[in-house]
Amino acid sequence: MDRRTFLASLAAAVAAGLAGCGAEPAPDARPSPTVARFTAPTGLRKVPLPHGTLFELPGKERTVALTVDDGTSSAVIEGYATLARDTGLRLTFFCNGVNAGWTTHADLLRPLHDDNQIFLANHTWSHPNLLHLSATRVARQVRRNEAFLQNTYGTLGRPFMRPPYGAHDRALDAQLADLGYPVVTMWLGDLGDSTVVSPRTIVANAKDWLLPGHIVIGHANHRSVTKVYGQLVEIIRARHLQPVHLGDVFEV
Ligand SMILES: [Zn+2]
Repeated sequence: MDRRTFLASLAAAVAAGLAGCGAEPAPDARPSPTVARFTAPTGLRKVPLPHGTLFELPGKERTVALTVDDGTSSAVIEGYATLARDTGLRLTFFCNGVNAGWTTHADLLRPLHDDNQIFLANHTWSHPNLLHLSATRVARQVRRNEAFLQNTYGTLGRPFMRPPYGAHDRALDAQLADLGYPVVTMWLGDLGDSTVVSPRTIVANAKDWLLPGHIVIGHANHRSVTKVYGQLVEIIRARHLQPVHLGDVFEV
């Protein structure tokens, strides 16, 4: 504990003691448990970025990467950003810059990005199926989103690209590699919330998939997930998993 942290905790302890004087606690009042924040991973050796398609994290550590796509709901983006700020959870966001929430909540997200707690990656500007587009329009989708991320957050989002709907083929992979994305980032596990599902379903999916080495996909599109943020965190904690973003484990 450094001196500043120590003094802050000392001040908090004194304040708590003073608050206790003369104020009879309610009979059912219990001290709220002190929950440790997630911290940045230590001791992980970053590996070179593989070429091709990525489904899992490298290594044998108990790492897990929750990745959050799209952002059609500004409220869900705000919720994830607040969750990350309050718990230290590390997240990878696959943004579509067309969705207003990435701009509306830039002030909340930017410090997390600047602290390297979140990684902002490319999911195209407006989420078309890239297999249905000409090479020119594919490039335009990728570059426009890069320009958005650069102007808003000071990053291009490279080298991680998740094609919308996970739709890709060998020719598209080659073009994306030429555009600066040597690896197509898929997932091994899904919160199942690309459509509206119940909070209970999301928790069940989280229990199935938040496991060592997994890249798990979720969406900032529907509010159900905002009701279970705490449960997602508890699953990760209870399993002694280290949350990471993709830039924590790959050389980027
Ligand atoms: Zn998507």
